[in-house]
This record gives sequence, structure tokens and C-alpha cells, in this order.
Amino acid sequence: MSFILEVKNLTKRFGALKAVNGLSFRVRQGTISALIGPNGSGKSTTFNLITGHLKPDSGTILFEGHHLEGLPAEEIARLGIARTFQTPQIFTHLTVLENVLLSVYQRKRPGLLSSLLRLPNFFKKEKEAQEEAFVYLERFFLADEAHRPAEGLPLGKLRHLELARALALKPKLLLLDEAASGLDPREKIDLAEALTSLPQEGITLFWVEHDLNLLMEVAEEVIVLDQGEKIAEGPPREIQRNPRVIQVYLGE
Ligand code: ADP
Ligand code: MG
Repeated sequence: MSFILEVKNLTKRFGALKAVNGLSFRVRQGTISALIGPNGSGKSTTFNLITGHLKPDSGTILFEGHHLEGLPAEEIARLGIARTFQTPQIFTHLTVLENVLLSVYQRKRPGLLSSLLRLPNFFKKEKEAQEEAFVYLERFFLADEAHRPAEGLPLGKLRHLELARALALKPKLLLLDEAASGLDPREKIDLAEALTSLPQEGITLFWVEHDLNLLMEVAEEVIVLDQGEKIAEGPPREIQRNPRVIQVYLGE
């Protein structure tokens, strides 16, 4: 089995703080892999380094054999990495549908000039894009809200909208930063169900969650961070029994 993502000796400093410190790990293609750790252990920073939102001080990040370190975020997205954010990043002044359409267009990138010169074709594409966006809205229970402004949606819906936006980019690797945080237990189960089928569609999930329990149910492989360093990795049942992991979580 091959690895879609390989991180070696990754380090990121903020002043004197080493937020990520000599971190190495691999994510197997077609799996749900988890990155866990107490607050401030470097999970979001690791994601920001992978997606190009931050530049590493040293180390390498290989995605399907491409070096990502130093590439701009848009280029990394084009290679097939999508993400969600701990605080949902959506366009509040647009409707729910328009938010997803932006991702569909971003992927298709129709040339503006050809769109203007061939109007009938443009409208056909427009309709196709809408239909495609609705597939993602339905998958995340948002079809009824399609024409509502995204502003004012409850957190659970915002998290779903972010997922619809990320998947509409048709990524190979999807990074989820606390996608279940702030949801009630029922919403967490719905979310996990909507996401666990993704590997069968060829999408690898790399999922950060502060809450240990949810990911223990769905992840095949778990990597544990503490103070920017990897302190354990393995299948969930081993991680749950690992004394060092228990200790850092209890010490929070
Ligand atoms: P986690 O996602 O595991 O909670 P983060 O990666 O957000 O942790 O943060 C790791 C450490 O780096 C924390 O101590 C945090 O305060 C610090 N940190 C994160 N981002 C910045 C930043 N942009 N500037 C300075 N310090 C930061
Ligand atoms: Mg975080």
C-alpha cells in the first residue's frame, strides 16, 4: 500500500516556540488517519504547513511524490489537497449554493473569454455546475437551505457547508481540522457517517480532532502530538492504551 503524504523532520517556530518540532509521519492512501493531541500541541500548524498557509522552517512534505514545501496554497490545492478550518471559512454574504458553486468553478476554471464568446455553451455549463453543487448540498443535508445566505447558519450547518465546499474541489486528500468540534452527539454521528464512505471514493482523510473518542471509532491509524512532537502512532486500540497518550490528555 502506498503513502499519499510523507512528512519528514518538519519544524515550524513562532519566535522561541517550536510549534512543530522535527515531526515525521506518513499517511496511507485510501485510509482515514487521525492527528490528535492536547490543545496547542501543533495540530493546526501541521495542517497549515501541509496546505501552504504557513512555510516550514525546515523539513520536507511529499504529496504523491511532489514536494509541497515552498509552494503557494493555491498550487497545493490544485494538486488535490482540500481542507476545512477549525473556524469555518465560508463567504457569509453569499448563499449556501453560491458558496459551493465557487468550488465547482474553481475546479473547472472555465476561461472567461470563451464563456463570453459562446453564450449558449456558458449557460449549459452554468446549469451543469448547479446540478453538481446540489449533489454536495444533498450529501450534507443542505439542499433546503440552498438559497439562504450562509450568514446566520448554525455551527453544525456551517461545518457541513465547509465540507461540501471542500469536496466539490474533488480532492485526493482532505484535511479536516476539528470538523466535529461544537457539534452535538447526534450531529457528530451524522458527520462521521457522511465522511466514512469517502475512502471508497478514492479520497484519503487526514482528520484532526481534539476529542479522542470520535476518531477512535473511525480512524485506522492515529498519530499523537504533544508540544509539537510525535509521541505515539498506531491503530486506535493501541493508542487508547498508550500510557504516554493517557498522561498528556489527563495533564491538560
Ligand atoms: P493545536 O491545533 O494542536 O491546538 P496549534 O498548531 O494551533 O495547536 O498551535 C501550536 C502552538 O503554536 C500553540 O502554542 C500556539 O499558541 C502557537 N501558535 C499557533 N499559531 C501561531 C501563530 N500564528 N503565531 C504564534 N504562535 C502560534
Ligand atoms: Mg487547532
